[in-house]
Amino acid sequence: MRKASDSYQACVARSTTAEGRRERLLKAADTVRKASQMLREAAAARDLHDLDAKDFTVPEIAGGTFVEWVYENGMQTVGGRVIRDELMAAPPNERCPLCRQGTVRQLDHFMPKSLFPALCVDPLNLVPVCERCNLIKGNKRPDNAENTILHPYLDRISHESWLDARTIHDFGTVQLRFFVSPPASWDATLTTRVKNHFTLFELGKRYAIEANRAISDVTYGVDKQRKRGGACMVRDYLREQAETRLAVDLNSCEGVTYRTLAADDLYCHGPSTQEPTN
Ligand SMILES: [Zn+2]
Repeated sequence: MRKASDSYQACVARSTTAEGRRERLLKAADTVRKASQMLREAAAARDLHDLDAKDFTVPEIAGGTFVEWVYENGMQTVGGRVIRDELMAAPPNERCPLCRQGTVRQLDHFMPKSLFPALCVDPLNLVPVCERCNLIKGNKRPDNAENTILHPYLDRISHESWLDARTIHDFGTVQLRFFVSPPASWDATLTTRVKNHFTLFELGKRYAIEANRAISDVTYGVDKQRKRGGACMVRDYLREQAETRLAVDLNSCEGVTYRTLAADDLYCHGPSTQEPTN
């Protein structure tokens, strides 16, 4: 990741010299450097919620004006576009790191730019996200450790399995309810944070929709296996589908869907084929 000072220089290098703007912005470089240092120290200590917005303003330039000059105008310049493009291209397969589902479309300011203008082009504060997550996140800032949303550069949880689901049978259809199943290595704060993140970004609802699609996709294969060898064959087939997906991503929504269905006897046996007796 590029240094905050390099990103800042890239964004202000082509700013207009009219009314001394560029000179004023170059003078603010030291404030930006100190702000980036405070952000990194707080990130390392896991207390981003303790950052005080008044330490992140820029002397003699109003917050909104600074953001307009540096972020909005600066990111449109040749140097700024390079920074922006690099950040947007970072998530594998353009997958939004907050929901792990949507396509990256925008940059979110983890610490909102309206409150923390000095961090407006700090790469550590710029998270590529999908439109929906950006809308939900809005100007929220962390107030305490528990409601600090997961920061994709700082909180890496994908190497552990934490997503699980259970089945709900209703009038012959099956649906999944997803939930956070914390691994033993997580402490209480991380568990609460992930659960809050899950709720805020409506991941249960979003994953349930994806699960419905996954169930439709597999219906033909399941019916075929059931006819060939009953519930046992269905279970094996679903386990293999799950394994394939979970090998790539331990918390793959599709993978968890197939794993959950494989463990559900009612689903594996399928609807009763017995003819009604009169
Ligand atoms: Zn998203």
